[in-house]
Amino acid sequence: RTDKSKYKRILLKLSGEALMGEHDFGIDPKVLDRMALEIGQLVGIGVQVGIVIGGGNLFRGAALNEAGMDRVTGDHMGMLATVMNALAMRDALERSNIRSRVMSAIPMSGVVEHYDRRTAIRYLTSGDVVLFSAGTGNPFFTTDSAACLRGIEIDADVVVKATKVDGVYDKDPVKHADAIKYDQLSYDDALDQKLGIMDLTAICLVRDHDMPVRVFNMNKPGALLNLVVGGEEGTLIDR
Ligand code: UDP
Repeated sequence: RTDKSKYKRILLKLSGEALMGEHDFGIDPKVLDRMALEIGQLVGIGVQVGIVIGGGNLFRGAALNEAGMDRVTGDHMGMLATVMNALAMRDALERSNIRSRVMSAIPMSGVVEHYDRRTAIRYLTSGDVVLFSAGTGNPFFTTDSAACLRGIEIDADVVVKATKVDGVYDKDPVKHADAIKYDQLSYDDALDQKLGIMDLTAICLVRDHDMPVRVFNMNKPGALLNLVVGGEEGTLIDR
């Protein structure tokens, strides 16, 4: 561990969609390799990295439900999708010589380890990247909530949420050229659903436990490292 970083332990939330690259479904190994490079830069300066990965590139319970499937079954499929994404991410990390572990909230003996908080903290302390998969293990939750929950549990210094844009805006910057970016927002501002940062469950959880969240652009090379060393990257959500 060096003194270069502002944050010693982070929880990084990667959406499933971020793994698709230019495709509409699935996993693009090239995208994973680039993410592994960015994550490796953090590990290289001694930052402990926990990752919660989404599953929206494969299945979402709510979407399957709209198409006629039972919601809980759909959510189970969504959580299993996050395990697949975590396995793919671990593969990319290991190929880049970054030691990593996958834990799952749903026991899956022989494939991944079952989530155990104390073991996870031991792995993090020893420098392994820990991928927390299967969300919270419960239907009706999201991986944003899982990221906030795991971030609080492992006593991370910050939850960093990777997005495709530079932070939180007053309106969708993809659709509106005059959208204004916020550098900082309070939890109560973040609860304003117009901004659509995360679901209410996730925001209430970080608010109740005073866990700061930073939303940043993962497509911007070096942004992750910059924010971890204390750079003004994206939008900070805190008290
Ligand atoms: N999911 C769930 N419980 C959790 C986390 C996720 O049931 O604790 C399911 C839910 O169906 C969700 C899917 O897994 O739609 C994929 O997660 P999410 O939509 O959060 O992925 P992302 O949008 O980050 O890719």
